[in-house]
Formats: sequence, C-alpha cells, structure tokens
Amino acid sequence: MSRYALLGAAVIRRTVTRRTVVKNLSMAAVASALLPAPRSQAADTAHLDVKDPAAVKLGYVENASQIDLKKYPAYVKGSNCENCLLLQGTSGAHYRPCTLFPGKLVSVGGWCSGWSAEI
Ligand code: SF4
Repeated sequence: MSRYALLGAAVIRRTVTRRTVVKNLSMAAVASALLPAPRSQAADTAHLDVKDPAAVKLGYVENASQIDLKKYPAYVKGSNCENCLLLQGTSGAHYRPCTLFPGKLVSVGGWCSGWSAEI
C-alpha cells in the first residue's frame, strides 16, 4: 500500500470516528432531554395522610400539639416523631420515613401512639 493510500485510509478512519462521535453525542443529548430529571426518593414519597386507616388506628397527627390527650393519656410531654426511635431518614428534613408507616413520610413534629423513646 502506498504512503498516500495509508494517509487516505487514516483520514477516512478519522472522519468516520468523528462522525460516530458527533452522532453519538447528538443521540445522547436528545436522550437526556427526553428523560425526566432525577428526583430524590423522598420527593417521590407521599406524606402520611392523617385520614389513612393505619394513621387513624395509631392516632397519628401532623403536629404533636393536636394530640387528643383523653384518648392517649400515656402521651409523654415533649414526645414527637423527631425524638422517636422509629423515625428514619436524614436529620433536618421536615418529613421523614417511619418504620410503622412504610412507603410514607411523617412530619417530624407529628406523633402517634407507636412513639418509642430514642435510646
Ligand atoms: Fe412518629 Fe414514631 Fe409514630 Fe413514626 S412511630 S409516626 S416516628 S411517633
């Protein structure tokens, strides 16, 4: 193979490579534009509704000041989800997962009769 033929082959290979790269980048740009933006798991998780049957059963309230003390006389003053052993997730978030209500987020200022003191 002549020197010019080798140069021609290299130019064609580089052109194909550039074309392939440009094509792939274009396809990636289109794909990323069509895909939904990533969201955090917490953003996708619903807040526990106080009317949810599981919430009603345990007397869950969004704000511990709303506790019916006649119904829950064992309420420990100052207790709420934030100082409950069963609260999970990252500190600082206003709504976090709870072991008793899988798939839902509870208010850190809330309370239910499942409250357990942190150890
Ligand atoms: Fe809040 Fe604890 Fe009841 Fe869960 S178990 S809802 S964290 S008080």
